Amino acid sequence: MFIPTTQEEVSKRGWKDLDVIFVSGDAYIDHPAFGVPLLARWLESHGFRVGIIAQPDWRSKEPFMALGRPRLFFAVSAGAMDSMVAHYTPARKLRHDDAYTPGNRHGARPNRAIMVYTSRLKEAFKDVPVVIGGIEASLRRFAHYDFWENKVRRSILFDAKADLLIYGMAERAILEVAQRMKDGQTLEELRDVRGSAYIGRVGNGAHVEIPSYEETSSSKEKFAEAFRLVYLQQNPWSAQIVAQQHANRALICNPPAFPLTEQEMDSVYALPFEKSPHPSYLETIPAWEQIKTSITSHRGCFGGCAFCAITMHQGKTIQSRSKSSILAEISALTRKSWFRGTISDVGGPTANMYGLGCGNVDAMKKCLRESCLFPQICKNLCTSDAAATSLLQAVRALDEVRHTAVSSGVRYDLLEKQPAYFRELTGHHVSGLLKIAPEHLVEHVTDIMRKPGKKAFETFLARFREESDRAGKRQYIVPYLISGHPGCTLADMFELALILKKMAIKVEQVQDFTPTPGTIATCIFHSGIDPMNGKRVYIATSDREKGLQKALLLWHLPTERAKVIEALKELGREADAKLLWGGGTESQRSSPALRKKTVTKKTR
Ligand code: SF4
Repeated sequence: MFIPTTQEEVSKRGWKDLDVIFVSGDAYIDHPAFGVPLLARWLESHGFRVGIIAQPDWRSKEPFMALGRPRLFFAVSAGAMDSMVAHYTPARKLRHDDAYTPGNRHGARPNRAIMVYTSRLKEAFKDVPVVIGGIEASLRRFAHYDFWENKVRRSILFDAKADLLIYGMAERAILEVAQRMKDGQTLEELRDVRGSAYIGRVGNGAHVEIPSYEETSSSKEKFAEAFRLVYLQQNPWSAQIVAQQHANRALICNPPAFPLTEQEMDSVYALPFEKSPHPSYLETIPAWEQIKTSITSHRGCFGGCAFCAITMHQGKTIQSRSKSSILAEISALTRKSWFRGTISDVGGPTANMYGLGCGNVDAMKKCLRESCLFPQICKNLCTSDAAATSLLQAVRALDEVRHTAVSSGVRYDLLEKQPAYFRELTGHHVSGLLKIAPEHLVEHVTDIMRKPGKKAFETFLARFREESDRAGKRQYIVPYLISGHPGCTLADMFELALILKKMAIKVEQVQDFTPTPGTIATCIFHSGIDPMNGKRVYIATSDREKGLQKALLLWHLPTERAKVIEALKELGREADAKLLWGGGTESQRSSPALRKKTVTKKTR
């Protein structure tokens, strides 16, 4: 049975009203890959009566009243993506599609959905608490740089006028809020929930005071300093309360929630999801088609890539499910009428981090490193590939499963320490194309990105080809590359193009860097300062330069030729055009293995 979305469905359950009503910018797909249904099922399993209002028309308050007044609170999310990221391209152009909406239609949610939804709810039910969460709220919890307005905005709590913000993965915090409200506690008493933030006044207790909104919006140095101080408070075991003044009031952010244990992860994924979009939808939903046969094995990422917000949202601690929980989910999936024998993914933010973690609990509780992998793999990191390998082997052994792919990205510097997983992956789970994310290969750029760099990539590539040959498979990589990343100049992009040419890798799509809220790279983009070391960083800001950077990686496409020539002119290296178009390199001529590797880059 689906979570109720109408009064009729509420009545069918024999209920008169609901405790918590979720409002979401995404269509309702009852699957644990989507945060709102997952949290709704989670609260339901703890005895709460919950409902979901999905993609309400925000032009009036009536759609927000569809399920009546909740006894405890409204829980609001913009959906799986920040609504501005969902709506606009990196060039700030309007997108025409939305993968989280039936029919892939654009326009089912407003810009700045959290603010708009909260406003409508307050119009409809002035006195009902509104709790905001999800990616949009989580990554905009402090004063933050907004690329679309090119300015520092206040904490979203001030703009949305919500009562409480839950950040990160929300199971613990939302359950605690619901239970304490059910027990009669008021919002004023809910000031100590881990993983939450609220507007208040700074008390006398221990806290970290970061530069105010007014300071961060007028000084780039202060903005970078605030970002660094926040980043250092992401370890749940050592974090303190963080306060940021906004005029005469403050955003008070409690320390992060503790990660879920394996048992808790298993219990979340064992909830009775229908594994289907709500039956009221008549059109297909692309996001559903993409994940319907994929399995989440874990959460979190300890890679710490500068352009990625996973660390700020899911945390650095890997939270893995048990093998038996994953196998049970797959077995249930194979009984679905539409299952055709293929599991499209077994992974998480980084597939080869399943089952891994810090091997030194004392060090972990004090650790302030951004990444367990960069600049070198930490000696305390457990890199054993036993759990991940055994999981893939067990899935492969299931009779009903004909093929299991790993389509989540893998971190190749870590893969070097995981020979058995590498062999299992290349031998059985690549499906012809392996997604890999070098993002760049020029060292000073990969250093800013906190990525492993060229040498590790070359080692990986050689190993991948060796293992593919051993398995007798013709397999390719899909390299993800970013243009216009902070620190990357036109000259760096030309160098990258030459490196890729030497490796006989052609890409057909390149991701233009987007400064999304909450990442180190976005902080650098806005401030020109790496917040973690104070160094000044070059930023490509003009659309023209960003276009030229991108074109250099697409040098082999006739449509980009004019731009490539323009870029080379600007670099004073017109004569070096022959290095791109001049008939191949020594390595191409000498290596048939390299010659055959022409790959297609997919967009993310
Ligand atoms: S001590 Fe090392 S392995 Fe442990 S959390 Fe810190 S960086 Fe990661």
